[in-house]
Amino acid sequence: MKNRINHIAYRCPECATATVGLLGSAESIGDLLRLKCGCGGSALDIKKERDGKIHISAPCIFCKDNHGFRLSPDVLSREQVTKLGCPFSGMDIAFIGDGEGIKPELERTAEELSRIMASLEAEEVKDIQPHDVDEADCPPDPAIYDTINFLVRDLEAEGAVKCPCKGGKYGLRFTDTGMQVYCESCGASYDFYCLSQSVAEEYLSLSQIVLK
Ligand SMILES: [Zn+2]
Ligand SMILES: [Zn+2]
Ligand SMILES: [Zn+2]
Repeated sequence: MKNRINHIAYRCPECATATVGLLGSAESIGDLLRLKCGCGGSALDIKKERDGKIHISAPCIFCKDNHGFRLSPDVLSREQVTKLGCPFSGMDIAFIGDGEGIKPELERTAEELSRIMASLEAEEVKDIQPHDVDEADCPPDPAIYDTINFLVRDLEAEGAVKCPCKGGKYGLRFTDTGMQVYCESCGASYDFYCLSQSVAEEYLSLSQIVLK
């Protein structure tokens, strides 16, 4: 998969259409790439950072905002399909992989979306998105999510996230005291006590996470 031609896809928060663009191989990603939806309502940005990490700002159909992700380039040659998830809804919002790998993911998320809309009796995608966010329930800092997500995915790739059940699939969620990584099979978890990004960054020195 080393020289796989990567595609990247996301679903537009304005019109709910999936847009697929060409990303190239991990090595050939340029300094800045922008993928726009045909309706002009949203865009996904990909930036190569100076340290070689790839920064992706992906529109979220559930939050109507973009979420930031930092990936190490070797993730792209290691995983069949890299999924980027919304930190608030836990749903996958963008995919990187070869064209064939991405297709079933887009079909799966389209079904998920219509199920959610049906259960909320929503007629259009705007009906499931937040309307006016007032100060009181302003969402947690996405920079904290970026940092913790980066750490967890990095350690996960090295097999350094350990769960008693050896389940192997881990999710992330916000808590009142920061963030939590949890096992999707048995529910074991590990808490990050970080209400600011600078505190979150202190966790970057961890070499292993043990869920309990
Ligand atoms: Zn659109
Ligand atoms: Zn979101
Ligand atoms: Zn487990």
